[in-house]
Amino acid sequence: MLRMVLQGLMDLLWPPRTECLLCGAMLAEEPLPVPVCEGCWEGMHFPPALRCCFNCARPLSGGGTLCRICAAGSPFGYVYALGLHEGALREAIHHLKFGDREELAPPLGRRLAALISTRPDCLVPVPLHRSRLVERGYNQATLIAQAIAAELSIPVVDTAMKRLRRTGHQAKLDRAARMKNLQHAFGVSQTPAPWAGKSVLLVDDVLTTGATAAAVANVLRQTGARTVDMAVLAVSATTVRGILKITIND
Ligand SMILES: [Zn+2]
Ligand SMILES: [Zn+2]
Repeated sequence: MLRMVLQGLMDLLWPPRTECLLCGAMLAEEPLPVPVCEGCWEGMHFPPALRCCFNCARPLSGGGTLCRICAAGSPFGYVYALGLHEGALREAIHHLKFGDREELAPPLGRRLAALISTRPDCLVPVPLHRSRLVERGYNQATLIAQAIAAELSIPVVDTAMKRLRRTGHQAKLDRAARMKNLQHAFGVSQTPAPWAGKSVLLVDDVLTTGATAAAVANVLRQTGARTVDMAVLAVSATTVRGILKITIND
C-alpha cells in the first residue's frame, strides 16, 4: 500500500517519460505518434561539409563531382535523399523495415518530400517479392511513397511492377554480382504500363550499390517511362570514388 502511494507520488512529481526509440535519450514530452527526439531528427541530414555525388548523393572520395557509377551512365536520373545510411537514420530505417514501426514512414516521408524539387507524374515504390510481403505485412518503400504522395499530391502506382524472383540477401555481393542476380527479377503485369509516357519517381528506403534501383529503372524505361528519378531515405555511407564530370558538346 505504502509502496503504491509512494509510486503515485513519484509519478506525480516526476511523470514517467518515454525514451527516444533511436538513441534511448529521455524525451522531454510525449511526442506522438513516434517517440524520436529532436536531436535524432536533426542528425539524419547529410553532414554539411560532406562531398557527395552531384547526381546520386553518395559520398565521394577523390576529386570530381560525379561518382564513377553515375559517370558511367546510371539508368536512373537524379536521386533525392535525406541523408547517409548511418546513425539515427539507419536506426529509423531498421525499425521501419524489421521492427514493425510503420508509423515512422509518414514523418520520414514528409522530410524527404520537402527535398523534392521536381513534379513527377507518379511514384513507383521498388516492389518486394510476394513472399517477403507476406512475411513483413507491408512494403516499406510503398509506405514511404504514400507519405511523399500525401505531401505532394502525386499518385502512387504500386500494382503493375512485380518482383518475380526472390533475390536473397545481397549485402555480401558486389555491384556486378548484384546486377547479375537481379536479371529478370522484375516484370510488369499491365500493358501498356501505367507509367508509359510519364515521368517516374522511383522510391526505396536505401540506395546502396544502386543495382536494385537500376534493374527496376531499366524495366520502367523499357516499358515507356519518359524519365526515372529516385527518392530514398538514405544513401550508403560508403564512399564511391569520384571522377571528373566530362561534358561532350556535339
Ligand atoms: Zn534520439
Ligand atoms: Zn553518383
